[in-house]
Formats: sequence, structure tokens, C-alpha cells
Amino acid sequence: MSDLSSIDVLAAARLFPAYQAHLEKTFRFHDRLHEGDAAAFAEVAPRIRAVACGGESKVPGALIERLPALEIISVFGVGYDGVDVAAAKARGVMVTHTPNVLNDEVADTAIGLMLCAARQLPAADRYVREGRWLSGPMPLSRKVSGARLGIVGMGRIGQAIAQRALAFGMTIAYTARSAKAELPYAYHADVVALAEASDFLVVITPGGAGTRHLVNARVLEALGPDGILVNVARGSVVDEQALIEALERGTIAGAGLDVFADEPRVPERLIALPHVVLAPHIGSATVATRQAMADLAFGNLRAHFTGQPLLTPVPECR
Ligand code: NAP
Repeated sequence: MSDLSSIDVLAAARLFPAYQAHLEKTFRFHDRLHEGDAAAFAEVAPRIRAVACGGESKVPGALIERLPALEIISVFGVGYDGVDVAAAKARGVMVTHTPNVLNDEVADTAIGLMLCAARQLPAADRYVREGRWLSGPMPLSRKVSGARLGIVGMGRIGQAIAQRALAFGMTIAYTARSAKAELPYAYHADVVALAEASDFLVVITPGGAGTRHLVNARVLEALGPDGILVNVARGSVVDEQALIEALERGTIAGAGLDVFADEPRVPERLIALPHVVLAPHIGSATVATRQAMADLAFGNLRAHFTGQPLLTPVPECR
């Protein structure tokens, strides 16, 4: 393999340790130097040719501007809403991400959150541990099998969620920017109409300006008092204040949330709600899937610096 050890790579976020170790062995690696010693960063910045970051990382235009030799931003994650792709493109900087290798994991997480929120499994665990079973049975929960599932975003992961939901005998409908003629599920152009026709609404679109607060108070109203929301997309896609109010007032029955507006900070009002299941953005967080993501993120860097075609550039850079 070509010697890549003279290429300077900046990590713009804390990376998966095995991925970082591989980068350190291969490149001249600078761990979040832009967040630390300004003088040290100013010295290295002109030589940085690649940025390695995560799906939730911020790579703003201001950082790209400070890196005149930058050629590629490799995102460890499929979502890249934190990267200023327009600024990168304007400079001829390529952006890559890690689609597909995490579909199964995120779909499993979505189904898990749906089951946990409906069947109250975390609360059931607490019920036993706290000895409350001794005083009587736990209140009844909600049935998932056979229910109506609405999927907001019918892309790679949305389709993997639908496949799993079919095994639960669920009726599936979805919204996306366009209908998918090849899929056997009902399409609703409008997310309010989808919510009205759903018992469970699972959100799995990209984040960013195009989907900001797509799930708002009107959508939650349409989902209704027996409805459950699951968000495994980005916190920005759901109006978090509207969600908190809907949960507090019983406008919807419950929620399963893997993502939040201001991670890792989760509003106290959400934490206080018993009918909400919370997870710390673990959609793709298994050893096997994080390794597959690391291999692909690394593969994109290696392809770029050995003159090979990029494995998975983001659509804007194809
Ligand atoms: P994808 O294949 O690009 O699918 C995205 C879907 O969202 C597409 O169906 C797209 O519609 C739809 N969409 C985009 N903008 C929309 C809008 N304004 N209104 C309605 N639908 C819209 O992406 P993916 O690989 O499935 O990943 C989806 C997202 O999941 C990622 O971008 C990331 O934010 C999130 N994610 C979260 C985790 C986690 O840990 N929780 C892990 C991985 C991914 P069209 O098909 O019509 O274009």
C-alpha cells in the first residue's frame, strides 16, 4: 500500500477508538487540535488534507476556510447534516459518508424503541427491581403486532424498518419526498395525513434545514392520544418543545427517542416523563457495525489518497 504517513488528518470529533488507532497508524493524525491550543492548530492547519469526523460532528464553513489544503471530509456515519457541504463543494473538497453498513442496526434500534415504548419494557424492569410487583401487577401496555406503522423517510433505513415491521403483521405507510413505485406500502405526500393513519410514527429522515421540525405540534395532534412517536433520525426533525407539551398533555401516548435537539443534553421535562423511553444516540452503536463504519470511513480516505474512486461519496459530491 502507498505510504500515507506524511498526510495530515484532523479528527474533528472524538472517534471510535479502533478507527482512531487505524488512522494514527496510517496518517499524521491530529486529534481535535482545532478545539485546543490555537497556536498549535495555526501551525498545522495549512497542512491538513483530510478531516475525519462522526455523523453528529460539526464541520462548519469557518473550519473548512481555515484548512487551505483540505481535500476530503470523511464522515463516520450516514447523516452528514453537521458538515457544510456547500462550502466544501465550493472549495472542491469531497465529502464521504457510511451508508448501508448501519441499516440493520438502526432499524433494530427503531423496532426496539417501538417495543420498549409500547410495552413499557424499561418501566417493567424497574417495576421488578423496585419490588413493586409484590404489591400487584403492572398497568397494561399497548399492542404492537398488527398495528399501523407510519414511516417518515423511506430510504435505506426506513425500508429496513418496514421489512422488520412486516414480521409483526403491521400495516405500513410512509412519507418521503417522492413516492416509491417499487414498494408495496401506501404513500402519503403529507406527514400530517400519515400521522392520522398511524398508531406508531417512526422518524428516519436526514437532519438539516430540509427536515427541521417536520414533526411539529400538528403532526403530533394527528398521531393522537393512542399514538407513539419513535425518533431515530435527528433531534432537529422533531419540534422537541411541541413533543414535550404533547407528551405532558396526553396529546400522544408515548415516545421512544434516540436523538435530541441539543445532545447530549436532554431536557429535564422529557426525563421526568414516565411514558418516554430515552436512548443516548445508540442507533448504530454495536461493535460490529461501528467496525464496519470505521472500515468504510477509512476506505474512503485510502481510496482518495491512492487515486482510487471514492467508495461512498455523499450524493452532492457524486
Ligand atoms: P436515505 O436513504 O437518504 O433516506 C432518507 C429518506 O428521507 C428518503 O426516503 C428521503 O426521501 C426522506 N426525506 C428526505 N427529506 C425529506 C423531507 N423533507 N420530507 C420527507 N422525507 C424526506 O438515508 P438513510 O441511510 O435511510 O438514513 C436516514 C437518516 O437516519 C440519516 O441521514 C441520519 O440522520 C439518521 N441516522 C440516525 C442514526 C442513529 O444513530 N440514530 C444512525 C444512522 C442514521 P426520498 O426517498 O424521496 O429522497
